[in-house]
Amino acid sequence: MPKEITTLVTFFGATGDLAKRKLFPSVYNLYKKGFLQEHFAIIGTSRQEMTTEEFQTFVSDSIKEFMQEDADADFIRHFDYEKADITVAADYAPLKAKIEKLDQEFALNGNRIFYMSIAPRFFGTVAKYLKSEELLSTNGEFNRLMIEKPFGVSFETAEKLQNELSDAFSEDQVYRIDHYLGKEMVQNIATLRFGNPIFNNAWNKDYIDNIQVTLSETLGVEDRAGYYDTAGALRDMIQNHTMQVVGWLAMDEPTEWTDTAIREAKNKAFNALKIYTPEEVAENFVRGQYGPDAANTQNGYLQEKDVPADSQNNTYVAGKLEFATDRWNGVPFYIRSGKRLAAKTTRIDVVFKQDANIFNNTQPLEKNVLSIIVDPEGKIEYSIIAKDTTPEFKTRPITLEWKVSADDKAQTPEPYERMIHDTMDGNGSNFADWNGVAVAWKFVDAIQSAWDATHQEFPNYVSGSMGPVAADELLARDGHKWVYEG
Ligand code: NAD
Repeated sequence: MPKEITTLVTFFGATGDLAKRKLFPSVYNLYKKGFLQEHFAIIGTSRQEMTTEEFQTFVSDSIKEFMQEDADADFIRHFDYEKADITVAADYAPLKAKIEKLDQEFALNGNRIFYMSIAPRFFGTVAKYLKSEELLSTNGEFNRLMIEKPFGVSFETAEKLQNELSDAFSEDQVYRIDHYLGKEMVQNIATLRFGNPIFNNAWNKDYIDNIQVTLSETLGVEDRAGYYDTAGALRDMIQNHTMQVVGWLAMDEPTEWTDTAIREAKNKAFNALKIYTPEEVAENFVRGQYGPDAANTQNGYLQEKDVPADSQNNTYVAGKLEFATDRWNGVPFYIRSGKRLAAKTTRIDVVFKQDANIFNNTQPLEKNVLSIIVDPEGKIEYSIIAKDTTPEFKTRPITLEWKVSADDKAQTPEPYERMIHDTMDGNGSNFADWNGVAVAWKFVDAIQSAWDATHQEFPNYVSGSMGPVAADELLARDGHKWVYEG
């Protein structure tokens, strides 16, 4: 049995879609694994009228629907409900009373987590009232805040939110969720790098030619145009998930395996990211918008429901990142993400430099490539040079492969389970911190403002392809090509 965690979690937005689909099933898994035993309580709150019994049924139903299980009655009795309008200061008093009651009842030692599963415009308001209405404990080991995405829609809005949060919470109390950081194979980047000298010693400009990060989707905008047309791939996928994955790839080895040291190492890399001028954006970034597929059976973006006919929104982004550090000078990090691409995948391809071919053959040798495949199934591939079987001494690339097994997969916690566990445990290693978020916004804002100032002809890629031709040309100019071709 693992060591029991003692805590009270208040879920704001407890009747919402995310709570039902992900959060309650995750808490149940933590209970089944023994992290939560006797000393825990969960308070759900939202603006909906509901009794505690009705809420307990809501939680049981969510576990039935999303885990196909009947929740243990002993688990469900730890759940309580309090209606509150989070924009009304007076509504926090009954919530406070309930928190204090459950704290006593389950002997929770004043350890509190507040999870904001609510619309982002409320994040600052809730943080403010948690402090002013005195819901934070003064005698416990911790008060922690878990925040859903997005964290702002620009550097300016993110900074405003950050200022609101930091009036009530210090940085080490804030757990900003980026569920990509909760993915097993993203967490495996660090193990591969720092656990294997062959990679750790070669993880620099002397041995690495370029690094490629791909987050591709096959779906189009579906029914989310209202949101997506204001965000685009740049803000929806690059600013957050892609940049956080890049953080694990670009960082130095942390001085020790703690969240503070990990964040410090990542921030050193983030702070060395080159922020582009408009001219550099034109050179280093490509935007795309999907048209119909080749057979003309799928809509182009401009024909999708609720998309303005003249939308300049990007549904695809590819670009080059440069880090001005001793480790990375001159090594391009290529990133790309888009909708309606040939395949749904998240992957990292690390292309190593190759030596001259000494095998009496003028052909250059293929480069070694380490591929970390995050989705749809966890896999590591390492493509190396070996001998061909023919009598003449010829070479060929071969691939060493490891795949997550069905057993491993069954035991792998979902990102939300892991993130809730880590917050309860006070481990901020797999959360986005303010400095990294701020740099990512400054980087993305520079690209967005350059694009806002220039018109682009759309559509410029066919649904079902791997994006605009310009994204291939971007790499070709540097003498490179995308490893993954869909
Ligand atoms: P939702 O609309 O389904 O639920 C929102 C919740 O907030 C409801 O419980 C509602 O009662 C409550 N609420 C709204 N206004 C309130 C008020 N004035 N006072 C008190 N409660 C109020 O939203 P969701 O899909 O569950 O998303 C919640 C958050 O999680 C958002 O920040 C979203 O961006 C993020 N998120 C959601 C998903 C997802 O899969 N649904 C995935 C990633 C991130």
